[in-house]
Amino acid sequence: MKSYMVSRYASLDAYTPGEQPQDMEYIKLNTNESPFPPSPKVTAAISGEEIEKLKLYSDPEGKELRDAVAKYFGFKRENVLLGNGSDEILAFAFFAFCAGEECIFPDISYGFYPVYAQLVGANATEAPLDENFSVDVNDYIGASKTVIIANPNAPTGKALPLSDIEKIVASNPDNVVLIDEAYVDFGGESAISLVHKYENLIVCRTFSKSRSLAGARLGFAVASEGLIADMNRVKYSLNPYNINRLTLLAGKASIEDDEYFLKNVKQIIDNRKYTVSELEKRGFDVLPSSANFVFAKKNGKSGLDLYLELKKRGVLIRRFGKDRIKDYLRITIGTKTQMCKFFEKLDEII
Ligand code: PMP
Repeated sequence: MKSYMVSRYASLDAYTPGEQPQDMEYIKLNTNESPFPPSPKVTAAISGEEIEKLKLYSDPEGKELRDAVAKYFGFKRENVLLGNGSDEILAFAFFAFCAGEECIFPDISYGFYPVYAQLVGANATEAPLDENFSVDVNDYIGASKTVIIANPNAPTGKALPLSDIEKIVASNPDNVVLIDEAYVDFGGESAISLVHKYENLIVCRTFSKSRSLAGARLGFAVASEGLIADMNRVKYSLNPYNINRLTLLAGKASIEDDEYFLKNVKQIIDNRKYTVSELEKRGFDVLPSSANFVFAKKNGKSGLDLYLELKKRGVLIRRFGKDRIKDYLRITIGTKTQMCKFFEKLDEII
């Protein structure tokens, strides 16, 4: 068929999301979701009455949820922007701060960064991770371009200390530094407090991982009022009602249930310790993880074979094709029962 797509996008290399199979029940350790249900307060918040109200548009300003997020982190509503997943926050930021200009992010990181860069026509530099798979801070100090760093990084799980993040932010006063903290709740040091001090910093977070709301699609940014206003201009040029009514309620109920949140995070951290030690017993090299997943490989074993053999046995994990990491498996931390099942299947294979 003839292509009708504009030439600018004809070669757009789109993001490939992790598999979300609808055909059978897998032990799903492939897209870093939480194995736990959302807080019971979320269930209670989405009542029949609220479903009836779906006939009305949602609040485009998301005032109540922004106030709840702002209160939780000690900011004002004007410092908070909501996104349909943190993916949408990233999209707004790439449009607002990278379109037609330069940006820099690590070569092994979240696969959406190069896609958004291409989408908005940014000139992107992919800075190689160092020999230990760490982000090399020197690549970003005084970079003089928009900086995007996931901290902890994905898919490695490795985190930079806050002091390094501050060096990067402080040395780029004329450029935006976006720190993507999708996984920070599992052991990273958050840069949110630095937003009080630096007007060029955006911290981006998600409800998809530690708050068990991946399917609700909710993320947020905390930044100076000016940067939030810039991203809002993009939002109101694309999709003003970007957060639906039920998600606004779910997010508020979730952020107001700290006890449940902390309990689940602790459980994941405990299960991660267990997973790392069991992998190491089996001769895997495991990168130190501050996230709800681990990145590991076993010498002499092909990552693709392990992935396929696990899938055949009903266990889904994530594997990436890039040469340097092709034999690594990214394994989401699930419940203890799920991890035991994972090891049972792994032992059948190795
Ligand atoms: N940032 C990173 C580093 C991620 O791994 C993900 C999850 N795929 C996201 C952002 C986006 O998550 P969500 O859109 O579900 O908030």
